[in-house]
Amino acid sequence: MTTEVDSFGPRRVLRPSAKVLPEQARAHNRSLVLQTLYRSGPLSRADLARETALTRVTVGDLVAELIDEQLALELGTRVDASRPGKPATLLDLHRDGHRIVGIDLGDTEVFRGALIDLDGTILERREIDARGLVGEDAAAAALALTRELTAIADRPVLGIGIGSPGIVDLAGRVLTAPNRGWNDLPLQARLQAELGLPVIVANDANAAALAEYGFGGASADLMLVMVGYGVGAGLLLDGTPLFGSRFAAGEIGHVVVGTDGGEACACGKQGCLETWLAVPRLQARIAAGEPREAVLRQAGERLGIALAPIVGALNLSEVVLSGPIELLDGTLAEATVDTLRQRTMEQFHGDLTVRLTSLGGDIVMRGAAVMVLSARLGVS
Ligand SMILES: [Zn+2]
Repeated sequence: MTTEVDSFGPRRVLRPSAKVLPEQARAHNRSLVLQTLYRSGPLSRADLARETALTRVTVGDLVAELIDEQLALELGTRVDASRPGKPATLLDLHRDGHRIVGIDLGDTEVFRGALIDLDGTILERREIDARGLVGEDAAAAALALTRELTAIADRPVLGIGIGSPGIVDLAGRVLTAPNRGWNDLPLQARLQAELGLPVIVANDANAAALAEYGFGGASADLMLVMVGYGVGAGLLLDGTPLFGSRFAAGEIGHVVVGTDGGEACACGKQGCLETWLAVPRLQARIAAGEPREAVLRQAGERLGIALAPIVGALNLSEVVLSGPIELLDGTLAEATVDTLRQRTMEQFHGDLTVRLTSLGGDIVMRGAAVMVLSARLGVS
């Protein structure tokens, strides 16, 4: 396997196709076998050939290669009295054979990281104080945390996934992350060169959306809204992340909501979604004595107003909220779904759900693991 990584995001629709060029066929078939084992294993070689529609010879070759690379393993034989002949040997993805390093750089206070197995289970955690770090100091802290986690890995590291704040292009270059003073920082290329391992850097909300899809049971048409110091979102359509023309898809925090003004925003406008919804704004209003329920209902309404055209345009089936449960759950989420229902067509959007993520504070790290699984193995 090479250490170069240039793709990002799940490709769940994997089917043998006559259009695949010969040089791509092997990689495609390999991903197909890995994906089938990942989702449906354990399976016999005959099961795999049937499910992938590949020949037994092709499956046999690929399985030998995967076992050699410790990506698949034989589990023993299946006893099946109804079938004559030799019992079939069962195969599975070697779920404990590699580790993934997942990193979340989105918090203002700490950078978090974890060692994760191929099923997304967090095995070890580390964090590093990141208060006030900007520019090269912040990049050095991210490198130190990543290095520490790769050093404690007790299996080969399949790859390193990093969720970064700001706008990140497809090569993992942070185009801008104002809170960290990053501009045109080639974070992915730099960490890859320093660590000698495959690294994938993406926006943290995009990573979170992938976590919700890969491990949180979300549908394939989803918007994940992260509410914290600011407000960001990740979008998946048919399981594929949307990036937009300038890699800023989902950056809804500085979209003005309504025509009735609102509080001044750091960006210079008035009434941006962040001014209604960001955690420090909500906390400040409640602390100043405004009724808590009214503040949260208004925040949910403004979020619903901001999301309605997106839900309508993309026919999303699910909006998932990530952030402090005590603020988002209940009144705020209910006001969001009520507002969305009022503003979209019942016929197409009546079954839309708005819910909180079940992945809690680990969502970005686990999303980073999905990025690695997708880019390195083609599974999701
Ligand atoms: Zn703004």
